[in-house]
Amino acid sequence: MVTLPLRIGLTVALAILLSCAYAYAGDWKELKSDHFIIYYLGDESFASETSRKAESYYDRIASDLGYSRYDKFWQWDDRAKIYLYRNHEDFLRATNKPSWVHGTAVYEKKEIISYEWGSGFFDTLLPHEMAHLIFRDFVGFPLIKGRAGWERTIPLWMDEGVAQWAEAGKRARAAEIVGALIKSKKYIPLDQLMTIYNDTAVDAEMSLKVYAEAVSLVGYLIKEYGADRFALFCKQLRDGKSVDEGLSFVYTGSIQNIKELESKWIKYYGG
Ligand SMILES: [Zn+2]
Repeated sequence: MVTLPLRIGLTVALAILLSCAYAYAGDWKELKSDHFIIYYLGDESFASETSRKAESYYDRIASDLGYSRYDKFWQWDDRAKIYLYRNHEDFLRATNKPSWVHGTAVYEKKEIISYEWGSGFFDTLLPHEMAHLIFRDFVGFPLIKGRAGWERTIPLWMDEGVAQWAEAGKRARAAEIVGALIKSKKYIPLDQLMTIYNDTAVDAEMSLKVYAEAVSLVGYLIKEYGADRFALFCKQLRDGKSVDEGLSFVYTGSIQNIKELESKWIKYYGG
């Protein structure tokens, strides 16, 4: 056990070391496209496939979320960066992540860090992390003054819902899980879901429910009320409204608050 100031010092030192490890390694090769710079160490064909897929996901994710008409981002000096290590071992060594992690996104720097691997990278990790970056680029990190000081306004389910909505196959799987949870009345009630901001706060069983409910809620709003309204809802959150205020402002006459969202969502998924 180390004392707190020492721990902070170590964390800062480690962060600097890590950022040097992936940002300044001399032998990175670069591949630039309209919205991305791919940095890679190994196979050029994997990097160019990443570049091609990233551009096509970029268009698809922005349009799925209704963001296309606001979309003037990620060009020239503002391009997102994707770092590709040669293999999982090198990735883990450079990022110091636990062994079950295969990639990560750094929101503030608009970076995705991963390595050359198979279809899981192209079908799951890349669209998932890209959607996180696009969502956060759009909504930012709004805070409101609450009882305990400045509080975050965007709960985890929105972040992870949007990210999984971009993945192939996640929508159908989540609908099945949520259908079963609703039938057995074992779902997490939405007023509780709204208070979860961080996935370190939940255990494995709870996390399965949070993630499935997240994507089904985002899916419900987009499929029932359209992507344009969803983008408008995200815009309200960006501008500092709470989820409740955003819902009643954008879905006037249909969804006045979280309670009403819950009963419609339950009905939609077979309750
Ligand atoms: Zn995620």
